[in-house]
Amino acid sequence: MTHTPIPHQLIPLVDLKAQYRAIQPAIDAAIADVVQNTSFIMGPPVRDFEAAWAAFCGATHAVGISSGTAALELTLRALDIGPGDEVITVAHTFIATAEAISAVGATPVLVDIDPCTYTMEPAQTAAAITPATRALIPVHLYGQPADLTRLIRIACEHDLALVEDAAQAHGATWCGHTIGDTTNDVPSAACFSFYPGKNLGAYGDAGAVTTNDEALAHKVAMLRNHGRTDKYLHEIKGFGERIDTLQAAILAAKLPHLAAWTQSRRRLAARYDSLLADLPLHLPQVAPEAQSAWHLYVVRVQPAVDTPDARQSLRDGLLAHLQAHGIGAGIHYPIPLHLQPAYADLGLTRGDLPITERVADTCVSLPLYPELTETQQDRVVETARGFFEGR
Ligand SMILES: *Cc1c(COP(=O)(O)O)cnc(C)c1O
Repeated sequence: MTHTPIPHQLIPLVDLKAQYRAIQPAIDAAIADVVQNTSFIMGPPVRDFEAAWAAFCGATHAVGISSGTAALELTLRALDIGPGDEVITVAHTFIATAEAISAVGATPVLVDIDPCTYTMEPAQTAAAITPATRALIPVHLYGQPADLTRLIRIACEHDLALVEDAAQAHGATWCGHTIGDTTNDVPSAACFSFYPGKNLGAYGDAGAVTTNDEALAHKVAMLRNHGRTDKYLHEIKGFGERIDTLQAAILAAKLPHLAAWTQSRRRLAARYDSLLADLPLHLPQVAPEAQSAWHLYVVRVQPAVDTPDARQSLRDGLLAHLQAHGIGAGIHYPIPLHLQPAYADLGLTRGDLPITERVADTCVSLPLYPELTETQQDRVVETARGFFEGR
């Protein structure tokens, strides 16, 4: 009997090698330049990238940070948020969003998401505000901005800071404004991650904070670099959370391509929309005010009965089928934060955030990256179709 090997990741979820091949000379030159100049810490490429990133976002300031997680944490510290304070965010996100709140000693208050956009639900956010609330952290998940119009209004009414988790939203827009061009109505900043798989990815950890608030930018810049205002003068107690020169140089070499990469993601997402339209799946919906950066293309299965077991077994079936056929599908994220052991202390259980739970139980991320070919995409769609036809 002949044995057919299972093809291993014919089409990955993200293909960083394809991107490197496309721009290898520029990346190699940027790396060689940093190594030759040996200005590894806060070298000239850091300032150059910060200026270029601020310009891309339409913000007046960008501060390079060691990671997206550290960008969130230092922003909260710069806003003097700490023990006794509450910060409202969502449970349907990567855990770093809440960890930053915990790291400064504040309490994360988790609210449910909008069933269409999977982002922070404004009415529930307003309802969760207490006298201890200091800030909101909406997450622009999968590249789609949260409802900033309503969230800014809520922040204004209750005198709260607005810290946007923009780790997945490079180049996304809300009402024509690029994410990162933050509001001046309340203290606000946007926190970006340049983790390798993000839409703009470094070759290691990196992040940035953008803001139009000069004092906030200055404080974040001091905090990331040991509270320094000068080499030997430490104005405040800070941290060692600078972006590496090497990462800044790589990001600066990649940034000129980001707009075209985002266009490619948008084109591929629209193509998925039409190719998948006849399958029994919930497809992504984008708010009319938004342009998504399409970090992820996330579909949801529709079980015949709506119980956690039925949802998960259908979803896990689709995922296993895709993976068995070499399609690198993923789940973002299977366990919402309120059901994570790390956040058991919040005292929430299944049933407390029903929309979050339903999305977590039913979501599947399909391969999406700028270099994905139409042939590869057709194969993803046909494999998904095969799963439903086989049932
Ligand atoms: C990636 C990510 C982070 C954390 O960024 P790192 O650079 O990995 O620290 C935070 N929030 C969200 C939503 C993310 O996707």
